[in-house]
Amino acid sequence: MEKILISACLLGKKVRYNGNAVSISCDIVDQWLAEGRVVSTCPEFDAGMSIPRAPAEIIDGNGDTVWAGTSSVVANTGVDVTAFFMKGAQMALELCKKHNIRVAILTENSPSCGSSAIYDGSFTGTTKSGYGVTTALLRKNCIEVFSQHNIDSAHKALQRINR
Ligand code: SF4
Repeated sequence: MEKILISACLLGKKVRYNGNAVSISCDIVDQWLAEGRVVSTCPEFDAGMSIPRAPAEIIDGNGDTVWAGTSSVVANTGVDVTAFFMKGAQMALELCKKHNIRVAILTENSPSCGSSAIYDGSFTGTTKSGYGVTTALLRKNCIEVFSQHNIDSAHKALQRINR
């Protein structure tokens, strides 16, 4: 049975920078959990970042430009945390390869997990169109990434693959 990668914070795990979760309530996800199809990831925690940790944003770019080496992920303390974000993304990709995962649901707005919007680098809570470091790497490897706002689309993608 096809598995699906889901951001740990969407599953109620308190792994966000502020020690909170972004819990969602969704029958489809509950069904996937009951079927044992869910693989959970928190790229930032898996890469060795602490909980809590300083919030970080991509400066002047998105996940692709981080991989291209033309932009960085920087914490609001000024510390460059790009290496952690790249390592966490690579660990998420390894999980996908291990479980033959082709669909992911990752948390919107995150510099790791955002899939259509990320914070804009100003640390003012402002978002812009874009995607995070993990999303960029998964997409480069032909894994479809959706946010918690598009679970129906992820469900359809899984059904298409299962056919
Ligand atoms: Fe959630 Fe992704 Fe941030 Fe981890 S890196 S807390 S899974 S949004």
